[in-house]
Amino acid sequence: MKIDEAREVRTTCPYCGVGCGVLAKVAADGEVTVRGDPDHPASFGRLCSKGSALAETIDLDGRLLYPEIHGRRTGWDEALDLVASTFSQTIAEHGPDSVAFYVSGQLLTEDYYVANKLMKGFIGSANIDTNSRLCMASSVAGHRRAFGSDTVPGSYEDLELADLIVLVGSNLAWCHPVLYQRIAAAREKRPDMKVVLIDPRRTMTSDIADMHLAIAPDGDVALFTGLLAYLGQHNALDRTYVTAHTTGFGQALFAASALDLAEIAAATDLGEDELISFYSLFAATAKTVTVYSQGVNQSSSGTDKVNAIINCHLATGRIGKPGAGPFSVTGQPNAMGGREVGGMANMLAAHMEIENPEHRDRVQRFWNAPTVAEKPGLKAVEMFQAVADGRIKALWIMATNPVDSMPDADAVEAAIRACPFVVVSDVLAKTDTIRHAHVRLPAAAWGEKDGTVTNSERRISRQRAFLATPGEARADWWIIAEVANRMGFGEAFSHASPADIFEEHAALSAFENDGARDFDIGAYAGTDGEAYDALVPFQWPAPSPPSPLRGGSARALSEAKQAGRGGVGGAPPTPFRPNEVEAVADDPLWPAGHLPLEGGDQPPLRPSPISDVAGMSGSQTLPISPLEGEMAGRPEGGGTIGRQPVRFFANGSFYTPDGKARFIPIRPVPQTRTNEKFPLILNTGRVRDHWHTMTRTGKSPRLSQHLAEPFAEIHPADAQHFDIGDADIVRVSTAHGEVLLRALVTARQRPGSVFVPMHWTDQFSARARVDALVAPITDAISGQPASKNVAARVERF
Ligand code: SF4
Repeated sequence: MKIDEAREVRTTCPYCGVGCGVLAKVAADGEVTVRGDPDHPASFGRLCSKGSALAETIDLDGRLLYPEIHGRRTGWDEALDLVASTFSQTIAEHGPDSVAFYVSGQLLTEDYYVANKLMKGFIGSANIDTNSRLCMASSVAGHRRAFGSDTVPGSYEDLELADLIVLVGSNLAWCHPVLYQRIAAAREKRPDMKVVLIDPRRTMTSDIADMHLAIAPDGDVALFTGLLAYLGQHNALDRTYVTAHTTGFGQALFAASALDLAEIAAATDLGEDELISFYSLFAATAKTVTVYSQGVNQSSSGTDKVNAIINCHLATGRIGKPGAGPFSVTGQPNAMGGREVGGMANMLAAHMEIENPEHRDRVQRFWNAPTVAEKPGLKAVEMFQAVADGRIKALWIMATNPVDSMPDADAVEAAIRACPFVVVSDVLAKTDTIRHAHVRLPAAAWGEKDGTVTNSERRISRQRAFLATPGEARADWWIIAEVANRMGFGEAFSHASPADIFEEHAALSAFENDGARDFDIGAYAGTDGEAYDALVPFQWPAPSPPSPLRGGSARALSEAKQAGRGGVGGAPPTPFRPNEVEAVADDPLWPAGHLPLEGGDQPPLRPSPISDVAGMSGSQTLPISPLEGEMAGRPEGGGTIGRQPVRFFANGSFYTPDGKARFIPIRPVPQTRTNEKFPLILNTGRVRDHWHTMTRTGKSPRLSQHLAEPFAEIHPADAQHFDIGDADIVRVSTAHGEVLLRALVTARQRPGSVFVPMHWTDQFSARARVDALVAPITDAISGQPASKNVAARVERF
């Protein structure tokens, strides 16, 4: 691509899921400057410290600039031929499930699309998973259980409109700073807005909170099932909404009523008065948004946490309305984009489902593929276990560093080291992962590549190149398509540009869809290179009105495009319209004797009189109707393009077979893991100015000024108990490994636990690789690792 050096290029930040707009400029002397894009509807000109320092992280130090085989520089042809022939031979000898791709939320949607197409449609396995599995897989699973689709039903604007924001397991001030700034600004204008923070630690986000509930790790299921019971007992339900638009309320309420207030207080380690304060505030505030992040997702009960939260919003009808809804904020810049194109082992492209034969058939016909994966593939933790035990014999890792970021990282490193054939495509020549690669492929970096990303509010924005690609680095989509070509699948991978891929992705979204699936960017089928270059940020769904393009094959769509039909233009999508709701008849499932909210003492929660029904104990999640089956058409699909927020489910119609949202009956199960040898709980997370394993932010001295070294944050009482002084070097150990860190003694930390940031690797600080300590325990439904609740010990070194 020709770069106009005097031009300011509109692009998107490559770090967190807020997805801020960036204006990047290259001066005549090559100096790059960045500033916030005032016109980007997610950020309106704001950038946080990481985004502001982007220009300091794009030098060529440490870049991988040429393909290498066994450390020897080679040309692209030899490297690509070796990758293609080894994958083909492995598949021929051991079957398609003997190979795997481990990809990344750092990939652009177009890269993800091509990788997923190759693995699921042409290799015929679903062994493609992503580091987004470590980030928000529990939210995906929770959305699909409740809504029948992976849909975040809100927009950032809802946070500004809310009267109450409940932040659960989210240090928004450090991890999604611009979103935090938007809330802080809204609160300044409307001081009556309330914020509740639910987090074991008193993080910087508590500065904005009216109430901080220092909950016990993994106490969230008990907290929110208790809230549902409270709402039921205090006449705080939207009966009309529940009856018209949901199923399973009675079962969910029954399960939620299993614990009384004292038991919830014990499970959450919160006072009964704190619980009642929070419950009554939630019950009384119609415009409530519950924002949740890794403290919810990274848990062995993560999916149940998500559904416990969603249950409360469904019960109060607070979903799909301005200023109301459950809201998952993703960690990575393109975690959502990966979900859209099926970058996870249990999904197909365009939000279609592997388990659904009709979806498989549709995708296979659209791709004109020889096959399509018939069952979900291995999720991240399972995938590396399969590498370890030899089931996976050829592995391609793209744009991620699992030797530092996966749980049980030492075991992951050993597995990769022993794998017969490992390909790594990356920007950097030296990471703890790439040193084990047989083939190293140089990838284009942020600022050099073109494509799209989707942020946490389902907003698709362009990343644009403003730098020439150095050495022989290439875009990830090109590398994957070249390998596909050499494996004999050339015709289907003849994409000439990211615009081509985006167009195909949009066309697949529209293909035989007619608005029947939540992910819909059908209006963009037919997008050509010029329109793609000019793409402005938009939210999905963005379906086109009925047109000749609807229901067409890829070829028909292509022909239509050539004939000048379709494209970004056309009539605006249909806005949602509320359904008319019929009067609610008496329902025996509703709790009798609703209690008043106002006045007098708040009554305690009462145990359910039928809490010991057979089949409802000993399991976290009670049976629900399966996801498979034809997804019902949405009667009032639609949305808007541009700045107007799209509110899903405003009309109460969901993507389940009956169009109703599902309450998920959940009861808390203790997640205690500590023991005599490991008496503390290790919690891992982010700091303000670093990103993932610091391969990019570690280049900026400015970003290291905030927190210059890794640390172990412990409460003064624990420090005293273990004879640890502030700034002492301590050894933090678990059953899986140990690290050496400086102690940071602070009352912000919850007693009985230790917090260690996730970023530092041995490259930056010796023996600080904290994911080597994290057990490979996952949520049974989502497969997401429990990175915030690991039994640990801390001692002075
Ligand atoms: Fe925005 Fe997140 Fe980038 Fe900061 S890191 S500028 S909040 S996208």
